[in-house]
Amino acid sequence: MASSNIEYDVIFIGSGPGGYVGAIRSAQLGFKTAVVEKRATHGGTCLNVGCIPSKALLESSELFWMAKHELDRHGINLASVELNLEQMQRRKEKVVSELTQGIQYLFKKNKIESYHGVGRLEGPNTVRVTPVQEGAPFLLSAKKAIVLATGSVPNTLPGIAIDEKNIVSSTGALEFRKVPKHLVVVGGGVIGLELGSVWSRLGSHVTVLEYASEICSFVDQEVVKLFRRILEKQGIRFITGVRVTAIQSKGEDQLEVFYQPVSDSPSSASGQSLLQCDKVLVATGRRPFSDNLGLENLGIKKDDRGRVLVDRQFRTSVPGVFAIGDLIPGPMLAHKAEEEGVAVAEILAGLPGHVHYETCPSVIYTAPEVAWVGKTEEELRKDGIPYRVGKFPFTANGRAKALGFTDGFVKILAHAQTDRILGGHIIGPRASELLGEIVVAMEFGGSSEDLARSFHAHPTLNEAIREASLGIDNRIRQM
Ligand code: FAD
Ligand code: NAD
Repeated sequence: MASSNIEYDVIFIGSGPGGYVGAIRSAQLGFKTAVVEKRATHGGTCLNVGCIPSKALLESSELFWMAKHELDRHGINLASVELNLEQMQRRKEKVVSELTQGIQYLFKKNKIESYHGVGRLEGPNTVRVTPVQEGAPFLLSAKKAIVLATGSVPNTLPGIAIDEKNIVSSTGALEFRKVPKHLVVVGGGVIGLELGSVWSRLGSHVTVLEYASEICSFVDQEVVKLFRRILEKQGIRFITGVRVTAIQSKGEDQLEVFYQPVSDSPSSASGQSLLQCDKVLVATGRRPFSDNLGLENLGIKKDDRGRVLVDRQFRTSVPGVFAIGDLIPGPMLAHKAEEEGVAVAEILAGLPGHVHYETCPSVIYTAPEVAWVGKTEEELRKDGIPYRVGKFPFTANGRAKALGFTDGFVKILAHAQTDRILGGHIIGPRASELLGEIVVAMEFGGSSEDLARSFHAHPTLNEAIREASLGIDNRIRQM
């Protein structure tokens, strides 16, 4: 039975990038703030089983690949290169643990009280906390707001049970203690390609089975064409336009994956094909997580995909209850959740908090990286918006040549009449970092001419952005 009732101004349920960043901003604005988190450490999916561990393994595996295949081109000959996977995993765990402890420190510094338990809405101003370890449930009440920031979990496929050992989600694929011989990845999206790359670089054969007719259907198609070619050259095999119908275990480390063309009827067995492998990664998207959160009791509305519906100020259909991050519509990205956490705290304080979704960047951290912001060419054509294109290849960029990574290009899309930047698409070395310049330019309503006339140090990869911008007006110089 719930006992004491402790009062706060604002309570966040969930301490992922949405909840923890929002709670810090809330405390900075003078609100007495609490966070309820069921996981043993703060940071949510992102820090514990998402962005950070995946990027640690991407970095380590890329270094391994380079040591094996690239360094000799630089005149560095290593006698032998061996993989110590246990050490690679330990390093990843250290990176995660330092960052999650950092949040604990930030909570303390900002006088945020955190409760280790499962939070559930008891009423529009009340959260029931069931401690994870021991103790009776208790109540917390919020004078100003309860913010739901419970994030998302992996999608499952009908009839396929994820055991996180052989048939894994991203969480299990970050934990392998042995390099799979053959890893089948279901879903050629962001997780499939990032984690597929990790294990391919470390020695796995990787086959990606994708339902759509092309991988990464949400990325500019000119970028996707080159991206797929490069990944194939790296050894990743793609089978597109197929649906997985069953996965059968044939003993220790032996799985059979059955699939068929999407065009075949699901009940027809005639077009079935079979892949044998030792691990399967299911990476077919994520679903918002609001199980047992008490939404139904209060009548909080969700859409047909289970996302909590909010207005532009993150208010749910019940006064006093707000929602942010992966739980609500929009891209499932850490920086989107963070911006919403900040905005909701500022709105509660009577400030004009808002999120400018048009400039939300996206990145796939493969090698080369793929990064984009704003509209793709396909979207502009569909919307009938007149645009001009400027493109510049990294093969003609001095710094890329010196680095030895020349695959890829920068593409800038600008309005045909106003020259305002509408989209930026980069495939190439350090695209994630390069994209920031285009994001800031777009945030200020900049034109391609603004980028073209800004200083860019020489020799840098950023010069490719200036050259692409010059390309919009046929003024490329460095070719
Ligand atoms: P989450 O981070 O999911 O946090 C929600 C928290 O709420 C969790 O800790 C959960 O335990 C807690 N919770 C849930 N229910 C309750 C309850 N009832 N009571 C108490 N606590 C509860 N995004 C990027 O931008 N860049 C990347 O590079 C990137 N890489 C990724 C790699 C992988 C493998 C994955 C899976 C995701 C990646 N993402 C990336 C996506 C990113 O992790 C999410 O968009 C982000 O974490 C969403 O933040 P959030 O705060 O909304 O939710
Ligand atoms: P995703 O939406 O990126 O890709 C899922 C892919 O699976 C799609 O290509 C889809 O067509 C395919 N698919 C769906 N059902 C299928 C089926 N039955 N069989 C075969 N293919 C199927 O989703 P994800 O890769 O699982 O990632 C989940 C979320 O996590 C994404 O929203 C992403 O934004 C986020 N994330 C971001 C990053 C990053 O920012 N670098 C990294 C990892 C994850």
